[in-house]
Amino acid sequence: MDDARKNYDEMLAAVQAFHDKHQLSQHGGEDLPYRIALMAEELGEISACVTKGKTREALAEECADLLILLIGTAISGDFKLDEAFWNKMGQLGNRESRIIEGRIRVSEFRET
Ligand SMILES: [Mg+2]
Repeated sequence: MDDARKNYDEMLAAVQAFHDKHQLSQHGGEDLPYRIALMAEELGEISACVTKGKTREALAEECADLLILLIGTAISGDFKLDEAFWNKMGQLGNRESRIIEGRIRVSEFRET
């Protein structure tokens, strides 16, 4: 298997090893509010890739930063991100799509 195609368990183990190496759980690195702030920071970096016309490689790197943080947040929050992913994909499969202001949106479209 290509190294870049490792499965979720291997990705989770790599992130756990990173947390262990730097003792994140002992030093506030697994506090959820802090992790949310870090994820927002990475989302800003992803946004800058788009708005500043950076390369596809730069965009991929920033998305990887966010994915690593998401997997780490699953460790911090003690939930199974892979199960949550597949549960949500199942739900999304039953949702409607609509064109809103020229762009497609898939949502529950609850009427208020
Ligand atoms: Mg980054």
